[in-house]
Amino acid sequence: KSVVHWFKRDLRLMDNHALSLASRKAKDHGIPLVCMYIVSPEDFEAHNTSAARVDFDLRNLELMKQDLAELDIPLYVETVEKRKDAIPQLLANFKDWGAKHVYCNMEYEVDELRRETKLVMQCLKAEIAFEVVQDDVVVEPGKLASGAGKQYSVYSPWFKSWVKYVHEHPHVLKEHLSPTANPSTARDTFSAIFDASIPPAPACKALSTEDRERLTSLFPAGEHEALTRLNTFLSTSKAQNYARARNLPATPGTSVLSPHFSAGTLSTRTAVRLALATTTKSLPALESSHPGLRTWISEVAWRDFYKHVLAHWPYVCMAKPFKYEYTNINWEYNDAHFEAWAAGKTGYPIVDAAMRQCNTMAWMHNRCRMIVASFLAKDLLLDWRLGEKYFMLHLIDGDFASNNGGWGFAASTGVDPQPYFRVFNPLLQSEKFDAEGEYIRKWVPELKDVVGKAIHDPYGRGAGKVAEKAGYPKPIVEHKMARERALARYKEGIGRE
Ligand code: FAD
Repeated sequence: KSVVHWFKRDLRLMDNHALSLASRKAKDHGIPLVCMYIVSPEDFEAHNTSAARVDFDLRNLELMKQDLAELDIPLYVETVEKRKDAIPQLLANFKDWGAKHVYCNMEYEVDELRRETKLVMQCLKAEIAFEVVQDDVVVEPGKLASGAGKQYSVYSPWFKSWVKYVHEHPHVLKEHLSPTANPSTARDTFSAIFDASIPPAPACKALSTEDRERLTSLFPAGEHEALTRLNTFLSTSKAQNYARARNLPATPGTSVLSPHFSAGTLSTRTAVRLALATTTKSLPALESSHPGLRTWISEVAWRDFYKHVLAHWPYVCMAKPFKYEYTNINWEYNDAHFEAWAAGKTGYPIVDAAMRQCNTMAWMHNRCRMIVASFLAKDLLLDWRLGEKYFMLHLIDGDFASNNGGWGFAASTGVDPQPYFRVFNPLLQSEKFDAEGEYIRKWVPELKDVVGKAIHDPYGRGAGKVAEKAGYPKPIVEHKMARERALARYKEGIGRE
């Protein structure tokens, strides 16, 4: 007999709700805990999972397997080519291991909910108790409602209510106990699992050796690394200065924890708890006393917000805009523009720097994500879903809810209370947030010799010769014209509802 924990996007031992319950159940019954994880290439394809993310997950699993082995807990990683085979495979494993109880943490996307619903039924037939619990968010969807009893679709009142809820329900931040050791006999019973190695990345998601080495040094894996990174962020001036520094892409002013939150090597519950532990003030009181810390917690809460949006309006999972009246916008179909955007060759230095950061690091600064997303949807008038997909295919921190939410916001088709009139001016954004052009010079080496303010717009500000000589492209659209075209096309699209 055994108890099983099925790992998904919760690749950690510390403060893991389902794993903690599974361990306790195993201990109470005096039977071993077995852990498993499914790698599904078809699932990666269907969800546009990036090769960087697959590699990060596999590196995390490698480390987790070692930590679990120290507790005599086996971790079995199985590759299932076809998605439809995941459930039969899980059931076959449960049967082999004599599983009586199976635990996992909930994912809110539609495919995953459908899969878990099927699994509940199959487990019921097989007389296996299957429990799916909340873990991925600080406040679970459904707990916060406006005065009218509805889910908020606007962040600010939602966040107010989130702060109040967390303050009044401190147990939501309570740490779940790490698993305890299995009886040592588990080593013999499950020796084949202990001996098995973690599979390599499937061919469709394999990284080149060079990319793998670069990403391994940029983003070391594992929950210990994540916790160290969090503690460093919280204990240095970074957290205090966050409110100001977070918008400057040339300054390392943010935590760069998103890969860990996405893979689940760090829980946002742990992050908020430890952030609050750095002060004697309560969460509601931080607004006046600790603006940096409060702003950081409010960013972590954005992640919760987008999960709530997904849970309440699951049609966002099906390529539908949150604002359904924005369904009929007549997008441009310009492959050359999309390719220039993706390659960082639009002739807008801040956009190009950001896309090149994405293509090299598999990560991009938040301010730049907003700039390039607005540029794609508004200046190029390309369907925002192309950009959404590109991000998922390239980012190491790809997370459906945050990515979809961020793109919807930038394209004005999502949970933004503002109408479509807000169009970022890439030049002004560049001057404001990369005033000295440091970020641009780092990522666009063609412009390294451009001096002064011309860095933001070399062809418009007298540095055209230098830029041209270095092979830097001219702007592919003119912002003023593009802005007017976008406003007209959005207006017409909404009118056609
Ligand atoms: P910090 O500034 O240190 O913030 C801490 C944590 O809060 C982040 O790690 C993240 O988990 C959360 N967070 C911060 N800002 C946001 C936000 N705007 N929305 C949701 N959560 C947030 N984030 C992802 O994790 N995955 C994505 O696929 C993703 N796609 C995005 C696409 C677009 C178009 C935009 C505008 C934003 C997207 N974000 C995404 C949100 C945000 O850009 C990143 O979370 C952030 O840049 C990560 O850097 P950090 O860890 O240093 O963040």
